[in-house]
Amino acid sequence: MAVDERKEGRGLLGEVTVTLETGVDARDPRRVALRAWLGAHPSPSGRDLADAKLVAPAWPEPWGLGASVEYQLVINEELRRAGAHRPINPIGIGWAGPTILVAGTEAQKSRWLPPLLSGEEFWCQLFSEPNAGSDLASLATTARRDGDEWVITGQKLWTSYAHLATWGILLARTSNEGAPQNGISYFVCSMKIPGISVRPLIDMTGDHAFNEVFFDEVRLPADSLLGQVNDGWRLAQVTLGNERVSLSGEGVLWGRGPTARDLVELVRSQHLALRKIDRDDLVRCWSHGEILRFLRMRLTANAVAGKVAGSDASLRKALADDHGQEMMTLAQRFAGSAGMLNDRGPGGSGGQEGRSWSWGFLYSQALTIGGGTSVVQRNIIAERVLGLPKDLGA
Ligand SMILES: Cc1cc2nc3c(=O)[nH]c(=O)nc-3n(C[C@H](O)[C@H](O)[C@H](O)COP(=O)(O)OP(=O)(O)OC[C@H]3O[C@@H](n4cnc5c(N)ncnc54)[C@H](O)[C@@H]3O)c2cc1C
Repeated sequence: MAVDERKEGRGLLGEVTVTLETGVDARDPRRVALRAWLGAHPSPSGRDLADAKLVAPAWPEPWGLGASVEYQLVINEELRRAGAHRPINPIGIGWAGPTILVAGTEAQKSRWLPPLLSGEEFWCQLFSEPNAGSDLASLATTARRDGDEWVITGQKLWTSYAHLATWGILLARTSNEGAPQNGISYFVCSMKIPGISVRPLIDMTGDHAFNEVFFDEVRLPADSLLGQVNDGWRLAQVTLGNERVSLSGEGVLWGRGPTARDLVELVRSQHLALRKIDRDDLVRCWSHGEILRFLRMRLTANAVAGKVAGSDASLRKALADDHGQEMMTLAQRFAGSAGMLNDRGPGGSGGQEGRSWSWGFLYSQALTIGGGTSVVQRNIIAERVLGLPKDLGA
């Protein structure tokens, strides 16, 4: 977002200096090997990066490198240094993939993971419904077994990128027995089959990122089921846990965009004269960013050690989303009149770089809603981490 703004002299953010956070020096053999590979692939495609296992290096072989936290950070640094970009497929790489790794058969992994990692097949998430958001277990979309097929009927809401996706991860009800969460199954659904209609929803930034999706007797082959029948709730927790952790992204907009460090760097480099209150707010914002950086590293270490992301992820999400709004509000304020311009920049839909501060400010309002609202995250922290009594209304 920032880099383009500086080039055109409108916004605040300039080039971000790449620092070697890991302290792993340039002679480290992993770094040497990466630099050699990047030298031979100066503009690597998504396929190149996936073949080199650099898209999700923490994943196990053959999809990733089983990379340690330090190695992942080295890879991130080297990719940034070379200006190489991983494919944009956040739902695919960020949370569908890890769930397929946990529950998929070898055939399912081989079918879905390679084009997911290369970005050649884009993914969406078909979880939320008109009456099932925070209370996701009350979802009403059904999956009925008919011979070798599953028949899906119902409606999903707020489905980001459904209009661009080849595949979707889908939760549907397969039983009404017992507790609601015990009757949910997890499917992988082609978005290009008869019976699916996708209708756009335009958000307050003016973008078309999310959609309503209608399923009218959609027929999925039997092997679209991930894991066991009625075990979807457990797998959904894997997905949502990964959704709440961003292993590589540092930006305040769900891992994308600038960081508070970038904002400080810009204020410094542009010699902005700040009022006392602005300095206080900037230092507070930077401090929050640093706390989140260390928390993110701890979560990354846990994930690499094979620990399922639980309430730690809720803690990070609740803090990070508030921080994103704090940072964007501050940046827009510092940008003065330029912060009110709604120049949409060269990007397409949905949060790519090259956007204005106004866009970032508006978009940041979604942070405390998407992926589980901040209020609900705080309920989880209160009950599971602090052991406080349950919410009275629950
Ligand atoms: C940008 C964006 C992208 C999204 N993309 C997707 C996607 O790709 N796929 C998908 O499936 N969904 C997606 N969502 C939907 C998102 O997961 C839901 O919006 C979210 O889970 C909240 O559900 P809801 O909107 O139905 O709100 P509700 O659950 O109806 O909540 C309304 C209000 O009530 C509060 N509330 C609810 N329950 C409690 C409680 N127990 N105690 C106290 N307060 C409570 C909430 O905090 C909120 O303020 C996206 C949302 C956003 C903003």
